[in-house]
Amino acid sequence: MIEMLNVSKKYNNGITAVNNLSVKIEQGEFVYIVGPSGAGKSTFVKMMYREVKPSSGTVQVGKYNLTTMKEKEIPLLRRFVGVVFQDFKLLPKLTVYENIAYAMEVVEKSPKVIQKRVLEVLDLVGLKHKVRMFPNELSGGEQQRIAIARAIANMPGVLIADEPTGNLDPDTSMEIMRILEEINNQGTTILMATHNSQIVNDIKHRVLAIENGRIVRDQQEGEYGYEI
Ligand code: ADP
Ligand code: ADP
Repeated sequence: MIEMLNVSKKYNNGITAVNNLSVKIEQGEFVYIVGPSGAGKSTFVKMMYREVKPSSGTVQVGKYNLTTMKEKEIPLLRRFVGVVFQDFKLLPKLTVYENIAYAMEVVEKSPKVIQKRVLEVLDLVGLKHKVRMFPNELSGGEQQRIAIARAIANMPGVLIADEPTGNLDPDTSMEIMRILEEINNQGTTILMATHNSQIVNDIKHRVLAIENGRIVRDQQEGEYGYEI
């Protein structure tokens, strides 16, 4: 599903954020990305949806070769890779319905398909009753559930979550995890960068530990493994 081979990313300021990294992730896996701040976790996941272009090496995500991909093909990749952020990034002037529908309109889904799917993903995250609300009328946890619903609306093969529980309390974080688990059980590959040691240690999955832009540990059913 995902294969990186000898991938490096050197930013314009001279910092090498990812250093000759290779990894293979199979379809349907749930993978935590852990490591200290500045280790290169964000850069690593951003390369999977071409938010960051690698300086060298090859990145394959599904059928997409991100190294040879042309700019105009990026929208196709973005349908295949859904993304969820720590700060939700919902559009404040749009309702819950419109936020999700918008993600489907840009890929030219018909209004009928959109309507059905928006309600389906809202049901999956348990927020069908909030469909007419605006983001600022929702709690942080609810906003993140909407962001997840939006990210999966186009049925991506891969879901990337960069610190999805970073702004949430422990109970709310667990709710988010239950939803991500369900999405994963339906076959979506999930990569989650996180500092949440309790989640990593309680809900066991493969752990990739990154330090100084390299994978220093790759462990099935792994542990968080850092003092905080
Ligand atoms: P995290 O992913 O750890 O939550 P960020 O991705 O916001 O945090 O930033 C991680 C580090 O990258 C920080 O030290 C930040 O200062 C640095 N950083 C982010 N964007 C830039 C940039 N455009 N130029 C230089 N450093 C940056
Ligand atoms: P993490 O997510 O593990 O905190 P990042 O990938 O955000 O790590 O950052 C890795 C390194 O790359 C840090 O030294 C950071 O300052 C640097 N960095 C991140 N984003 C940028 C950027 N846009 N421009 C320059 N340097 C960056």
